[in-house]
Formats: sequence, structure tokens, C-alpha cells
Amino acid sequence: MPTIPRHKRLAIYKRDKWRCRYCRIPVRYSCKAIGMDDYATLDHRMAKAQGGGSAYGNLVTACAKCNGAKAALSVGDAWDSGALPVWPGETLV
Ligand SMILES: [Zn+2]
Repeated sequence: MPTIPRHKRLAIYKRDKWRCRYCRIPVRYSCKAIGMDDYATLDHRMAKAQGGGSAYGNLVTACAKCNGAKAALSVGDAWDSGALPVWPGETLV
């Protein structure tokens, strides 16, 4: 799995205001936070297996807990893009 460059990763966390886009808790990004529920991760809105790429618009900030929960679900289950919260004035591309 190709790694998303750090600068791109950070740009997405910043765009999403350092909050999980699913449960909205503030997330952290540091070595010490790895393994914790609020550790910042990137989630592919459209899974790679479904043809989703690593474009800016296909990646969202997710806490480790939500990302783990999503992985356990079949693709599209309750997590489709239509259900994603969008911040006021923001367009989710
Ligand atoms: Zn979450």
C-alpha cells in the first residue's frame, strides 16, 4: 500500500479541522497517539478496492476508532459519502 506523503496527510487533517469526519471528535497526530482511539488516520471515502484513489477529495480524516469500525463493515454500509458531515461553507469534493 503506497504511503500518503506526510504533507498531504497534514493538509487533509487541517482541511478537516483536526476532527474525525464521522464522529467529530478532535484527533491527534503524534507518535505517542498511535494506537489510541483518537489517533488521526486517513480514510478513503471510496475504498481502493472499489476504485477509489488517493486524491485529496477521496480522503477524509477519521479517528482510529471510526476507521477501524469502517474496515469491519462492508463497503458502503452506513458510511457512504452522502452521510458524511459537511462543515458550513465547505464543499466536499
Ligand atoms: Zn471517529
